Amino acid sequence: MPDLFSRLSKIIDDAREEITALTVDLVQFPTINPPGEAYTPCAQYIGRRLLASGFEVTYMRGRDTPGDSDKYPRTNVIARRQGKYPGPTVHFNSHIDVVVAGEGWSVDPFEGVIRDGRIIARGTCDMKGGLASSIIAAESYMRANPDFPGAIEISGTVDEESGGFGGVAYLASKGLFSKPRVDHVIIPEPLNKDRICLGHRGVWWAQIQTKGQIAHGSMPFLGDCAVRHMGAVLNAFEQDLYPKLNQKRTNMPVVPKGAKRSTMNINAIHGGESDDYEGLPAPNVPDSCSLTIDRRFLIEEDITEVKAEVVEILEGLKSSRKNFDYSIEDIMEVLPLMSDRDGPVPTAVAEGIKQVFGKDPQYIISPGTYDQKHISRIGHLHDCIAYGPGILDLAHQPDEFIIIDDMVESAKVMAFALHQLLTR
Ligand SMILES: [Zn+2]
Repeated sequence: MPDLFSRLSKIIDDAREEITALTVDLVQFPTINPPGEAYTPCAQYIGRRLLASGFEVTYMRGRDTPGDSDKYPRTNVIARRQGKYPGPTVHFNSHIDVVVAGEGWSVDPFEGVIRDGRIIARGTCDMKGGLASSIIAAESYMRANPDFPGAIEISGTVDEESGGFGGVAYLASKGLFSKPRVDHVIIPEPLNKDRICLGHRGVWWAQIQTKGQIAHGSMPFLGDCAVRHMGAVLNAFEQDLYPKLNQKRTNMPVVPKGAKRSTMNINAIHGGESDDYEGLPAPNVPDSCSLTIDRRFLIEEDITEVKAEVVEILEGLKSSRKNFDYSIEDIMEVLPLMSDRDGPVPTAVAEGIKQVFGKDPQYIISPGTYDQKHISRIGHLHDCIAYGPGILDLAHQPDEFIIIDDMVESAKVMAFALHQLLTR
């Protein structure tokens, strides 16, 4: 075992140039989501690479999922390499989509500039660097131990940034993330090279609408302004809801610290003349106003209570405020998730971290959700974590980067964990 580890370490150290080149190649596909650009060529690049290293490669399009079209097909790639003997299957899942580059870059965000031991580009950290690490980890392991038991799978999936419906959710609905096909899953999201992410907080998205009555803007007293009603909602949130949310603390090890409590973002507000109207506004009293809320909740909270808190405030306004009327509609909900830290995957990765860094991992929970939710809810597979190189805070930022040393070290952790999981 120590012998295999030093051999693996050496192979991965020698692959430093290769891991860099692979990451640069991957970030040069501008897989921007939305709308879902360049998914197919990026998936095919990964497929060709893994085919050459002996994997069987399949492409699966998330047909008729949100955003899927012939112009923007939701192309996923799944590669599987069967071992010499029967055994469990370990799956590395990475999303290939990235968010828009945005402003403030000092380099071309899709070139893959290498500077001071880093690669700077959109998607380096979140999460093509992690994908490259897992590919190098698997290939290096296969070289160090060609007669391995079980099977290794690597997937490149789409749409994580928009909910993962055409990607992991679609594949999970086809049985690709369930037993007996797969036993253990590692998602190389950028949670830092020495941390293990066991899950995430819950999410509830909803849209609230206030109602009014249209009238001429010069005589607003003849109508009823839906925007003012929404102002009352926001005011009640400030007075009664936010202080309450601030008090709710969790025992989940959420990072960053600010997310160790309940939070709610006001995602959007619209009322009156629509934003895309370019002429002079007509003098109308708006008869409807909508507000989108993004509530993140804790494992200690029940989703029915989370919803009831908001409804209670709206009902309160209904009885105290003249002509107040509203509706509320769910947009999305995801329950909080926390894998068992003594499960096979967290244990194997923890051992890998100990080998490579000489210390115990830090166990964390992500403030936001990622594709683990689909693996758990649709695939019913619970031995899953996020582990990968990259600094979480850099995700979605200008001049996003990944440190090449971190990718190399993470690949060692992954390769070591892979061996543990296949042979334990
Ligand atoms: Zn990500």
